[in-house]
Amino acid sequence: MTPVIALVGRPNVGKSTLFNRLTRTRDALVADFPGLTRDRKYGQANLAGREFIVVDTGGINGDEEGIDAKMADQSLLAIEEADAVLFLVDARAGLTVADQAIAQHLRKQEKKVFLVANKTDGLDGDVAVAEFYALALGDIYQIAASQGRGTNILIEEALAHVEVANPEEEEEFSDADPFLDGELLPEEEEEQRDEDYASLPIKLAMIGCPNVGKSTLVNRILGEERVVVYDMPGTTRDSIYIPMERDGRNYMLIDTAGVRRRKNINEAVEKFSIVKALQAIDDANVVLMVFDARVGVTAQDLTLLGFAINSGRSIVIAVNKWDGLDTDVKDRIKSELDRRLGFIDFARIHFISALHGTGVGNLFESITEAFDSSTKRVSTSMLTRIVRMAVDDHQPPMHAGRRVKLRYAHAGGYNPPLIVVHGNQVSKLSDSYRRYLINYFRRSLKIMGTPIKVEFRDGE
Ligand code: GDP
Ligand code: GDP
Repeated sequence: MTPVIALVGRPNVGKSTLFNRLTRTRDALVADFPGLTRDRKYGQANLAGREFIVVDTGGINGDEEGIDAKMADQSLLAIEEADAVLFLVDARAGLTVADQAIAQHLRKQEKKVFLVANKTDGLDGDVAVAEFYALALGDIYQIAASQGRGTNILIEEALAHVEVANPEEEEEFSDADPFLDGELLPEEEEEQRDEDYASLPIKLAMIGCPNVGKSTLVNRILGEERVVVYDMPGTTRDSIYIPMERDGRNYMLIDTAGVRRRKNINEAVEKFSIVKALQAIDDANVVLMVFDARVGVTAQDLTLLGFAINSGRSIVIAVNKWDGLDTDVKDRIKSELDRRLGFIDFARIHFISALHGTGVGNLFESITEAFDSSTKRVSTSMLTRIVRMAVDDHQPPMHAGRRVKLRYAHAGGYNPPLIVVHGNQVSKLSDSYRRYLINYFRRSLKIMGTPIKVEFRDGE
């Protein structure tokens, strides 16, 4: 499971600054579901090849009352989902009453807490942080988030802690999975890779907002009411992994909706866990994104899709509750989808009714197609031929009086497919030409349902 690190602290200590530095994402995922009033931000991050999720819990003072206390509780719920908590304090402002109140909350949480003194730039760190030892949270990490000083060591230690704390979590489904972020193997091992692909189940994550019909769809697919009564150990943030077979292929269904059934339905906050969705995306080969036809595409959906694309996952879209709609309503929904999902034109869209079972079977054709596309083997000679054809059809533009030259291409990895194109002055290629090439590869190789990454290398 992708580790989750939560940032906690009173307003203005530098949480957003640290969040931005760690995630470098332009569009953080902001939780704005009904019942979730506080701005929590979720982002994907990577340190030395290790993926993790960062949650900025929003500011809390620790002494909130009334409605403020409710909101603070929700921030604290985000802490529950985290593997480690970074508690930020401001080394310039010194120790405050609010810091003490938050520390008291955190001590009750039984979570690993790293006390982080931020803004130590230009200060004598050891002197500045001395007073924070009064919080009795152990070692103090000195950082300057705005400059990135001390942040790598901090994250390394937090991740090391998570690894030690959850050694068994890794292996069950995600360890040694050649599907994910596949790297190119030496030629002689490629056949073995194909065999591995054929024998392992396709991990399929069912993602979507509350009430779009995920559980109904899971039940429909399994043909029984098993999911509802499935008794799983673990916390609310865990998804259910359900092995299944269909048309001779094996799948591992990752059900992000199931566990909450056992919990109190009135707990609005627990109905949907972004962390759970993000972890399911990270762990999946194919993401099945479910929409409610009557609600349409929400901002959350778009951001979740953005995360899936960013993670290189294959994607299939299911527009559910397609039953009982008038033709003009259907037309309106379809044109809205066209407009809003233009950025993900590689994903197939299915119109289904989980309730009646209409269209559910066809989903699996697109799911296997997407998976097979993402693991497809392509030879250097074929890729090079495609590059030459693309250039013949449409020359790269001139730059400073010289034409950009594209010479050859080879596969650089799988899942998603990575194609490396070699040439001269390739850094001068415009975005629109890059897009043209990607689409050319997509059409020529018949790659559907998965993003394609193209990397350009100069002078070889
Ligand atoms: P948040 O409310 O906890 O999310 O805090 P912000 O990230 O918005 O930061 C609050 C202020 O502190 C901003 O003006 C930042 O530029 C500043 N800040 C953040 N990190 C540092 C740092 O490492 N050094 C200094 N000197 N200022 C910082
Ligand atoms: P989840 O929160 O995404 O797991 O959604 P559920 O599976 O619990 O479904 C939410 C509601 O939508 C329930 O009342 C379902 O009966 C209803 N629902 C699910 N699928 C369909 C469908 O295809 N058509 C219609 N009309 N209702 C559906």
